[in-house]
Amino acid sequence: MSFSFKLINEEDSSRRGEILTSHGPIQTPAFMPVGTYGAVKAMSPLTLEELKAEIILSNTFHLMERPGIEVIKEHGGLHNFIGWKKPILTDSGGYQVYSIAKNKSVSNEGVQFNSPLNGDKIFLTPEICMDLQLAFNVDIAMVLDECTAYSKDKEKVKDSMQLSVLWANRCRDRFNSSQNALFGIIQGGVFKELRESSINSLVKIGFEGYAIGGLSVGEPIEEMIKIVNFVSPLMPKDKPRYLMGVGTPMDILKAVEMGIDLFDCVIPTRHARNGYLYTSRGLVRIRNSNNKNNLDPLDHNCSCYTCRTFSRAYLHHLDKTKEMLGSTLNTIHNLSYYLNLMADLREAIEQGKLRPFLSKFKENWEKFID
Ligand SMILES: [Zn+2]
Repeated sequence: MSFSFKLINEEDSSRRGEILTSHGPIQTPAFMPVGTYGAVKAMSPLTLEELKAEIILSNTFHLMERPGIEVIKEHGGLHNFIGWKKPILTDSGGYQVYSIAKNKSVSNEGVQFNSPLNGDKIFLTPEICMDLQLAFNVDIAMVLDECTAYSKDKEKVKDSMQLSVLWANRCRDRFNSSQNALFGIIQGGVFKELRESSINSLVKIGFEGYAIGGLSVGEPIEEMIKIVNFVSPLMPKDKPRYLMGVGTPMDILKAVEMGIDLFDCVIPTRHARNGYLYTSRGLVRIRNSNNKNNLDPLDHNCSCYTCRTFSRAYLHHLDKTKEMLGSTLNTIHNLSYYLNLMADLREAIEQGKLRPFLSKFKENWEKFID
């Protein structure tokens, strides 16, 4: 197995670690920029490398629809197809089936739905999902799970969680690879007992890493924090822990404090395209008219290409004129912000200084500037 994880050190519950893959190492805690269709919006792989991104996330569901498995296979896998040499994780599609598929019907066998793209009937099973990710030859594949909406109906959530465990078993049987890792996904909604049962079942099956799924699906933020706080210490210590789809810088900080190692989220890239930019002093809305004549860089404390080179006035102008370069420069900055935050967190954990780092960050965070 060319995939491994080692803990470098710990401070309280937080962890500093390293994942090794056949496409290179990933220092954790790590953030994965999202490249849904095999491209991080407005970014080239070259720029992502310059930003020191060590892994990106892509979506099995969307790649299955377009361009389809054959052309990716012909390229020898997703890395060659998209021109990215470093590690890739693919989401299984469970979340996309939950969020965008039409007329879906779920059975033990799999899930049938109409393609949101052209209405074609698609039948996705755990086996097909594994075959897709194996053909993509990604470093980390995710099991097919049923992602349930936020619900207080415990029996319903329990049935769904048990179906996900059944599918996880079949995924493990199918996914036989000495190169690539397969992660299990913990479900169980906001019910601690179900979450615990889900973890125990998945650990029995045995995966190279474990993810907390089914959060950020409409539950109040306090519920999410409560569940992560409960689930994280129950997850195997010697395997990477991934919190799917989270989140804001503050959510990530809290989750790192609770022992999570991997994150992905569309927030930094989507916000960038909408002109919401994270800075060391808070969130900046570049569209606001007070940036119109502002010669300052976006963030004096940021050394990214955007902040080194351009004024707020120029970024404001690009936004107003809807120039593509605006999205690119904004995304460079927001991803720098996220990736630098992760680097700072890793350093703080290494030096045993996470607590003062977090309290300083929280102090500054509430200030909204523009
Ligand atoms: Zn910057």
